[in-house]
Parts: sequence; C-alpha cells; structure tokens
Amino acid sequence: MANKPKTTAMMEQYQKIKDQYPDAFLFYRIGDFYELFNDDAVKGAQLLELTLTARNHNADDPIPMCGVPHHSAQNYIDTLVDQGYKVAICEQVEDPKLAKGMVKREVVQLVTPGTQTDNHADTAKVNNYLTGVVFDAEANCFGLAYLELSTGEMMACQLDSREAVLNEIINLNSKEVVLNSTELPELAQQIKQLGLLVSEATPAPVANEQLLASLQTTVLKHAGELLLTYVTETQKRSLAHLQPAHEYQPSSFLKLDHNSQYNLELTKNIRTGKKAGTLLGILDETKTAMGGRKLKQWLERPLLQQAAIEARQRLVATFLEHYYERNELREALVQVYDLERFAGRISFGGVNGRDLMQLATSLAQIPKIKHVLDELDTPDFAELYNRLDDLADVRAQIEAAIVAEPPISVTDGGVIKSGYNQQLDQYRDAMKNGKHWLADLEAQERDLTGISNLKVKYNRVFGYFIEVSKVNLPKLPADRYERVQTLTNAERFTTPELKAKESLILEAQDKSQNLEYELFTQLRDQIKQEIPRVQTLASGIASLDVLQSFAQVSERQQFVQPQFNQDHRLQITNGRHPVVETVLGAQEYVPNSITMDPETEVLLITGPNMSGKSTYMRQLALIVILAQMGCFVPAEAAELPIFDQIFTRIGAADDLISGKSTFMVEMKEANQALQTATANSLILLDELGRGTSTYDGVALAQAIIEYIHNRIHAKTLFSTHYHELTDLDQQLPHLKNIHVGAVEQDGQLVFLHKIMPGPADKSYGINVAKLAGLPDSLLERAQTVLDHLEAENGQQVAHQLQTQPAPAKASETADQATTTDQQMELFAPEPAPQPTEEPALTPTEK
Ligand code: ADP
Repeated sequence: MANKPKTTAMMEQYQKIKDQYPDAFLFYRIGDFYELFNDDAVKGAQLLELTLTARNHNADDPIPMCGVPHHSAQNYIDTLVDQGYKVAICEQVEDPKLAKGMVKREVVQLVTPGTQTDNHADTAKVNNYLTGVVFDAEANCFGLAYLELSTGEMMACQLDSREAVLNEIINLNSKEVVLNSTELPELAQQIKQLGLLVSEATPAPVANEQLLASLQTTVLKHAGELLLTYVTETQKRSLAHLQPAHEYQPSSFLKLDHNSQYNLELTKNIRTGKKAGTLLGILDETKTAMGGRKLKQWLERPLLQQAAIEARQRLVATFLEHYYERNELREALVQVYDLERFAGRISFGGVNGRDLMQLATSLAQIPKIKHVLDELDTPDFAELYNRLDDLADVRAQIEAAIVAEPPISVTDGGVIKSGYNQQLDQYRDAMKNGKHWLADLEAQERDLTGISNLKVKYNRVFGYFIEVSKVNLPKLPADRYERVQTLTNAERFTTPELKAKESLILEAQDKSQNLEYELFTQLRDQIKQEIPRVQTLASGIASLDVLQSFAQVSERQQFVQPQFNQDHRLQITNGRHPVVETVLGAQEYVPNSITMDPETEVLLITGPNMSGKSTYMRQLALIVILAQMGCFVPAEAAELPIFDQIFTRIGAADDLISGKSTFMVEMKEANQALQTATANSLILLDELGRGTSTYDGVALAQAIIEYIHNRIHAKTLFSTHYHELTDLDQQLPHLKNIHVGAVEQDGQLVFLHKIMPGPADKSYGINVAKLAGLPDSLLERAQTVLDHLEAENGQQVAHQLQTQPAPAKASETADQATTTDQQMELFAPEPAPQPTEEPALTPTEK
C-alpha cells in the first residue's frame, strides 16, 4: 500500500488521511460510494472481486481506483476484516452542499479483526476477543487483558512466561493482539507466525480509567490501559457498555494446553474446523446466543473447586428432574435476543425501533423465567434468580413509545406510537387533516371545472399540484390556476389555497419526523443508562441457558452425575465417548470401565491398532472435562478425583506454533507434561515414541513411564504397541496392564473394543495390515520376518531394557527426553536391515 503523490485537492486530502492509516484499507467516501485508490484499489479489487478502474484515465499516471456502494459496504468490510485486514472508514463529515471548497472528511472508525462487532448468525455463539499484552520488567511478568467489544466484557491476568501468554492467546481464539512490538519483538514474531494480526499501541492513562479500578497490580493496569487506548483510538464512538475489568487466575481453572484442546477436539473439529463433531457440538442445546458463548467459555475453563462444581451439578440435577419446567424455560429462552450484544450496539448508537421491540420482547420473557424458577422451589437458584432483573420500567417505556412493528429507519417516521407525545399527535393530525383537505379539494375542483379525471398529486420537486390532461385544458378557467409543469399529455397547476395548505402539510410532516427522531433518541439514551442492568440480566440468562443445556444433553445421552473424592480414586463404570457414541450410534458403541484405585498410577494399554486405545483415552479426558464443568458424564457411574491439569499426547496433529516434526512435537509435549504435571494431574500419552526407531522408542517410553511412576505420581494412561513394555508391571508396583480385546476368527481379526485386564497377547500388526488389504504374499513374508525377529531379537531387547530402580534428577530426565540425538547416543547402532515391529498401519495413516 505504497503511496504516490497526486496533485488534485481531493487526492491531497486522500493522501493526508491515508498516511495516518498505512496498514489499513482506506474506504474513502465520495457521494454514495466508498472509493479505494492506488495499491488499496489494486489489492482490494482482487480480494473483493471488484472491477479495477482508474481516476483520470488519460493522464500519464492514472490512479487505480475501485469502489463499493455505501449501502452494501458492510459486506465488503467484513470480507476484508475476516481475512485479517483493517479497514478505515472515512466519511464526509459536512454537508457537501454547505461545504466551502473540499468537503471535510474524517476516519470515523477503524474496523479490525479483534474489534469487529457485527453479528452474523455463524458468529453469534462465538466471542471475538481482542487481546493486549504488556511486559513489566521490574516484576518480570506479563500482563494480558482481553476485551469483547460487542458485549463489553473485559478480563485481565498475570502470566510468567511467553509460552503461557501464547497459550492463553490461542485458547482465547484471539484474532488480533495489541502490543508494543519494539518492546516485545519475539512475542510479536511468534504471534504473527500463528497467523494472527499484531497491532501497535502503548499503554497510557485513559479517560475511562475507572473501568480498571479493581485491577491490583501495575502490569494488569497497563494491560487494561493498552486495550482501552487501542479501542478508543480505533472505534471513535461511545464505549459506554464496557464493563469493569476483572482479574482472573488461569490457575483457578483446569489447565489444558492448546495442543490438548486441539487434539481432544473440544470446540473445533480437526478435519473441518467446524463445531460439528466436537464436544461443544454435542453439548450445545442452548437457546440463546449468550448461552452459546458462555457454554464455550465453561468448556474452555473447567473448574477446580469441588463446591463450585457441585453447585452447578445441583442445578443440572434439578432441571433434569423437572422436564416440564425445563421445557417452559427453553420456550421462553428462544424469545430472548442477544442482550449482551444489544448492550454494545445501544452504546454505539446503532439500534433502531426493531431492536428496542426485541429488547421489550426479551424482557417480557423474564417474569416467565422467574416463574419457572419459583416452581422449581429450591434455594439453589437464589444467586441466579437475583441476577434476573426484568427491567419492567424499561420495557414499559419501550412499549409505551414504540409501535408494534417499527420500520428499519429511525429518521423517516412511523416509529413512535400515537398518544405518546402530544405535540407529535398534533403534527400527525395536521398531516392527516391536510390529506382530508386535499381529497376535499380534488372533489371540489372536479365539480367546479367539470373535469372528472382532475387529480391532486404530489412529487418531491413540485410538492402538491393539480393535474389536468391536455384534452381537458380548455375546460379550465384561466384565472386562479398557475402553471408549474407541462408534460406530454397533461399540465400541472397550483393555486394559492393549495400552496398555503401544502406548506402546512409538509411542515407538519417534517416536524413530525424530526420530533419522532428526537423522541426515539431520548428513549435510546435513557435505555443506555441501564446498560449495566441489562448486562447483569444477560449473564444470569446465559448461565441458566447453559445449565438447562447440560440437563437436556444429560437426558438425551443418559449422562450421570459424577462424584468427587480427595483420595485419588478413579472409577468409571461403563463410560462412553460422548462424540463417538453419537457418530456410531449407542448400539454400536462398546462402553468401557476404568478403575484406578489410589495406588494405581499408570495404566499401560496394549492392543492392535484401530482397536480403540486412543478412543478410550480421549473418553477419559472428556469425562473429566465434563465433570469439572459441572455437567453430567456419559457413564453408568463415575467417581473422580479433581484434576488440576490434563496433558495429552494423542493423535498426529502438527504443532500449531512452530511446525516441528511429529517426533519433536511428541517429545516437547511429553516434556511439558513431565515438567509441570503434579500428583493431581491426568496424563494421556498415546503411542509415545512411534516417531522414532523401535529401540529409541521403547527406551524413551520406558524411561518416561518410570519417571512418571517414580516421581510425579500423576494418573497416567499410556498406550503402546511396544510389547516389551508390558513386563514393566513386574518392577513398577503402581503400574497395571490393560488391553483392548481382539480375537482372530477364521484368520480374520475382529475388534471387540472392550478393555480387559492384563497385556494383549500379541500386537496383531500383520492382521491389521491384512484388514487394510495388503497383498497375501507380502503378508506371508512379513510373518516370516516377524517369527525370525521374535525368536532372535526379542530376548535381547528385553534384556537390554531392564528398568532402572534409582530415579534420576527431574531436570536430567526431562532434558534427555527433548532431543533425539542424545537418545541415539545411549544405544548401540541398530542392526541393519531394520525390519520393524511396528504394525504396517501407523496411526497417522488411519
Ligand atoms: P487405536 O487408538 O487403538 O488405534 P482408535 O481409538 O483410534 O484405535 O479407534 C479406532 C476406531 O475404532 C474408532 O474410529 C472407532 O470407530 C472404533 N472404536 C473405538 N472405540 C470403540 C468403542 N468403545 N466402541 C465401538 N467402536 C469403537
């Protein structure tokens, strides 16, 4: 978007403005169009599929140009912003008719990916968080704040590493991050690598500083100021709906790094990127957009406090028991519009009569909802109930003022009810009487002239006039009629009485429209004062909606209420994977139990590929997450400890941040788990080590298992096809073997998907290869090689890999786990050729 100097006054003005927004598309208003020039035009024409033209065609250096009509500009703006660009909207800020010289123009808003507030159906249930990050060198920590401009929600937290910051940004799904990139160059670089937009700002004291009053530390205040500075600069409009910022502790929620969130497909399907086929997709029975967004928040932040979880559970249980009331509630919720985003729009001044009627309709549901809660008759709902202010005063005001079906426009009249304002009624009477008078006049003139098709008409240029067709002109007396216009077949006249009445009627109409607009904005401003009440109500409705959604899903999929314990006991009876069971159908899905008494720390899972090992592990993770969200879980019974963190190494997903090789990612994730897991964590490692050679893989897998078993004591599920590892139960008292059953029937492998005690009897790699359709001759050859290997090498490997009884230092083992090279040195070079024991189907090929 480089700039060429152009000479006309307009291009000078354009260039001056453009220079202030070098990184944005400048939508420059000329009459009914927004025009783009120069590089903006070239790139814009391409992205928006517009025709590229030029200003001053015939000059030596024509200026590339393209434009969009102002009434359809929003779509074009959205398209650019959705693709990660910024758009500066530059309006004519004075009436061109009154302007002396160039019409004054100003940028009235800078639309950016993180400040986009327009409400499409597909984004209604998703928050758009703008994030800001600052670093405090003295305190040696980062401050991160985020803000959702459409709802006004603002939160801040303190984080101690760049990884933690990146993790939070990814978990928030931010599209745009504000920071000072000279101060934080590496962070800025990494954020850009994630494909996110980095915007520049520096924290400075802000006018709405009181919003940050509850933030205790300097770094948090700065993060808040940074965001407020940025939104004030870009939005240039009222931000009255912004809510006071609150500090949150990422550590007060179940910790789940972004790779785990991604691999477990909590909110986004890995293949499609959509919500369908995810845990969120299964859970979403919410009826309001606010509830939809809150559900996503709860899912991304499961709780740690048993009391808080159980409080949610009790409400879900109550809704489950009361089918009829739940239905009534759901019916009322359907009619509640997006109050949170309404608060944003009313603050921006963008609401019309229809929006106010929607607010009134929404508010009318509140007494019904409160009635339902009354019926449920339990003290558990008290806190939520108190948030449900039905704003009866506001609703009464709207219903008194606004007609039942108002038009979209707020300036053309027809919005305010009659009887609301005496003056308005008088103007309207005048208009109505005027119209009667005109009808009378028409009749009277017809009588007088004997011209039966004489008409009184109106147009914008000539106002009211009498129209007489050419053939009838001779009948018209000459005196009173003054000609105003001649058409081919008719002539148009006015008379002194008509002129007088016309100005009365038009004046009444004008005044009436102006007064209506004034009354409307008064009402709108009054309601604006009530934004905090609307926001409190919205938060209560959102929570209720999520809880009823939990009940709805729990009923549909027969979930049960899990119990929590403090003594590391995990017992799930006939658990299911909530997403896979809906895909396969409840008949097909084989439920599986899991038992880990306080003494059991590691379950080593063996079984052929495709038998269901990773599904079993994911099932446990999802059950834990559901439980700690306060939802019921897919099982016949469940007793769980409360986990502080979940680590997963499941599936072959690429690293989102660095695009490193699968094995490197695997080792990094394992390291992450080993470094930060506690005895209260859940670790799920699926086929760890398969990315390297067999010896390396077995060695690392064994060392990692020992490390977890001897030092961390976290509940761990470790699936593997390294058969050698199953002997570990001899040395490690807290490790148990389980396997997924499979049987051979008539030479065919049949998966039972059933978890059984003890190790699998063999690895079935060749059977899986057979299922995949590999040629018979090849399979026979593989069997021969395998028999040979099992006879010769099997003994040897087992011998080499005796467990080490003495635990190494924490940092040593973790460091060893991070690079392959170091590991290579630990073992003698491998025998060549290397027929591997890995089954022909690696999980990546599934
Ligand atoms: P592995 O990790 O052992 O290779 P997966 O967990 O990926 O196997 O499961 C492979 C397939 O088996 C899944 O896609 C699913 O369709 C099916 N499956 C897994 N677990 C079950 C189960 N409990 N009941 C029915 N089908 C299952």
